[in-house]
Amino acid sequence: MADIPITKPCFDANDRRAVLEPLDSGWVVQGPRVAAFENAIARFTGARCAVATTSCTTALHLALLACGIGPGDEVIVPAFTFVATANVVEHTGARPVFADIDLDTFNIDVTRIERVVTRKTKAIMPVHLFGLTADMDGVMRIARGGRLHAEQSRDRRNQCRDREGAVESSLSRRPLRVIEDAACAIGAFFRGRHAGTFGDAGCLSFHPRKSITTGEGGMVLTNKAAVAGAVRKLRDHGAEITDLARHKTGGLLLPEYNAAGYNYRMTDIQGALGCAQAAKLNWILKRKRALARRYENALGDLQEFRLPGTPAHCVHGYQSYVLLALPRQMTLPDRRELRLLHARRNGLMKSLAAHGIATRQGTHAVHCLAYYRSRYGLRPEDYPNALAADRLSLALPLYPQMTIAEQDRVIRALRECVDTSPP
Ligand SMILES: *Cc1c(COP(=O)(O)O)cnc(C)c1O
Repeated sequence: MADIPITKPCFDANDRRAVLEPLDSGWVVQGPRVAAFENAIARFTGARCAVATTSCTTALHLALLACGIGPGDEVIVPAFTFVATANVVEHTGARPVFADIDLDTFNIDVTRIERVVTRKTKAIMPVHLFGLTADMDGVMRIARGGRLHAEQSRDRRNQCRDREGAVESSLSRRPLRVIEDAACAIGAFFRGRHAGTFGDAGCLSFHPRKSITTGEGGMVLTNKAAVAGAVRKLRDHGAEITDLARHKTGGLLLPEYNAAGYNYRMTDIQGALGCAQAAKLNWILKRKRALARRYENALGDLQEFRLPGTPAHCVHGYQSYVLLALPRQMTLPDRRELRLLHARRNGLMKSLAAHGIATRQGTHAVHCLAYYRSRYGLRPEDYPNALAADRLSLALPLYPQMTIAEQDRVIRALRECVDTSPP
């Protein structure tokens, strides 16, 4: 067992006190503490509305439904992300269409989005992976241009026409919806704006692998009252009014149900924990950023790795610290090189485990997973950057309580293992 874990939730006496409050009050389902947690996250992110759910997965599911995504639609998702990003598209009956990523950021490559837009494309789901925002200028530009705009730009490239103005004005545009998977992105900013507040909706996760946790939990951020309203109803079986509102007014009869909704409600026990976690969010982010800077300084000279960078306009939230075991002088490795580098990364992870240090691969290439491979006939090499990230990414331990001594042990062991691993 590793004594330096990949991450560790940050619980203290305040968290313990918080979870007991709802038990003492007797109100444990979604109620005042969930509302207080929603307000705290809305304040922190600057989102007009925040609606809590049982997980980021269920938050994304409801956000897609609230945006009208359903059978016959296509939704563009990055090929390298947690499987839930694509699964929620499947849940709506729509089809996830993958786009390759940029290896410098692990995020969707905006130039690839335009190439996969079709007449059926209804939405783009950028993921702000590991706490770094995707290029939201690029995503929003494509979304605003919409389906026709992308088709025109393809035509333009093909035919080198210069009468684009006339072509554009003769066709009506249909903007694409944007649902941000901001599961990892609390504390991540792009041009000073918090992740998840650019598109129609953005969804946060409060799983223990993320920067703050409620055990399981998620939240839909949106600036659109209509989206928030739809999500609120759908998370509560489709009910027109909440249990709490009915309880307060002494209502004896059940409310009206205009949609076949779900039970995706967060409990007030989790809401209370969320409030306690949110209270120390700034401290958590500050600690993680300081530790990330220490990794950067201590590992920057190693030619075997590409460290996570932060593009201009971005503030990294460092949900995880993920590097790429791809030598700096190499561009994209060919098949044989990738196999060798992959074996080398796995060997490194094993050696670190022998030192009591936990590591993980960053996340997976979803198009390589059995379900997606067989359902859509995809091959690993269809998205070469996602494949390389799958095989070569390496997450190092990072958590706010990590001591300098612990981090130095990771750094020392990593340098030592690199030196001894075969070239
Ligand atoms: C963690 C994660 C999810 C799922 O979040 P849950 O709260 O566990 O449902 C979705 N997408 C990404 C990118 C994630 O990292």
